[in-house]
Amino acid sequence: MKLNKTMIDALNEQLKHEFSSAYQYLALAAYFESVSLPGFAQWMRLQREEELGHAMRLFEFILAHDADVELHALAKPTTSYASHQEAISAVLAHEESVTQHIHSLYEQAIAEKAHSVQVELTWFITEQLEEEKTARDLLEQVKMAGDNPAALLVLDREFGSRTSTA
Ligand code: MG
Repeated sequence: MKLNKTMIDALNEQLKHEFSSAYQYLALAAYFESVSLPGFAQWMRLQREEELGHAMRLFEFILAHDADVELHALAKPTTSYASHQEAISAVLAHEESVTQHIHSLYEQAIAEKAHSVQVELTWFITEQLEEEKTARDLLEQVKMAGDNPAALLVLDREFGSRTSTA
């Protein structure tokens, strides 16, 4: 079934958001390297890969509808933060904004009776629930460590031990 133009535009817009997420996580990896927290940086690199996976999933989904993919320009992501805690807060804020985009896209799909889009988006909705939980946990742990270098180093090791994008 053909999707209408507004739906395709919205999917392409979401495709941009997913690539922007990947770009943002890459910027965060650079930031954490710059403050000598390589474990956090490694975690951000893996998160970047995961976001690229989301983008490619949407890319294939749009193509499967025989619709035109549009690759929008990406905004320059922030690489400077006042503190590591501020950087992690930015992760949570970012994931919350992605969730909002997904939810409005889902509402649009319902309004336009685009069933295949609704089905596809349920995967993204579940994924966002997980992403927000992960970001919240990360922030809580960073807050607990505070400015204690020993605690921060332990966290850095732990984050650095992440090996998969799942
Ligand atoms: Mg994503």
